[in-house]
Amino acid sequence: MLILDSKIDSNKKLAQFSRRTERELEKFFGVKLNSVWILLLNSRQDINAVYGKKTPDWLVGFTHQNTIFILNLKVYTKESSHKNQQDFWKTLKHEYCHLYYKKLTGNTYPDWLNEGLASYLAKQKRPKPELREALYILGDKNRGKYDVYKVGYFWVNLLIDKFDKKKLLKLIGSLKPQMSQPEFERIFYKVLKIKFSRRSLEDLYGKY
Ligand SMILES: [Zn+2]
Repeated sequence: MLILDSKIDSNKKLAQFSRRTERELEKFFGVKLNSVWILLLNSRQDINAVYGKKTPDWLVGFTHQNTIFILNLKVYTKESSHKNQQDFWKTLKHEYCHLYYKKLTGNTYPDWLNEGLASYLAKQKRPKPELREALYILGDKNRGKYDVYKVGYFWVNLLIDKFDKKKLLKLIGSLKPQMSQPEFERIFYKVLKIKFSRRSLEDLYGKY
């Protein structure tokens, strides 16, 4: 990984953490990233400028191609709604997960699985959603109607608990770059032998 910091200070801890994270996630996802750039942003204004629009206070990281944009540790709590500076490391790992997910699947689809897995692996625990909210993953058109991090974390955690990480990875590895919802449902059933339907998700939710 290559770290770009507009204030040009070599950050040993950041380099070490990134190397360790790459090793861990390479092993987990079974793919290698080419070269990752980490670009440290030093203010909310910088984030907005790179993102291309005004961003909410909680947004502290995002990816584009092989670059992770992240709010600098030094201003992490000052320029965001995050209270704990240590969340920086979780954010960085979360963004790394997106790069591996994209590399493995060629896509970011479905959002709940992509965000849920990144949150799970980065240990960004979320509260259990209500059943009604949890079931929003059933439809693509529900996008934006629910907390994708909370709901995604719940389902990923549940699926890993019910099966295991390997099985979940098999599901993700079977996804295609261009995929419709019915295709996802087919692959989900083929790998996990449970239907991606209201009834079976309700059933899973109830047992958890
Ligand atoms: Zn994310």
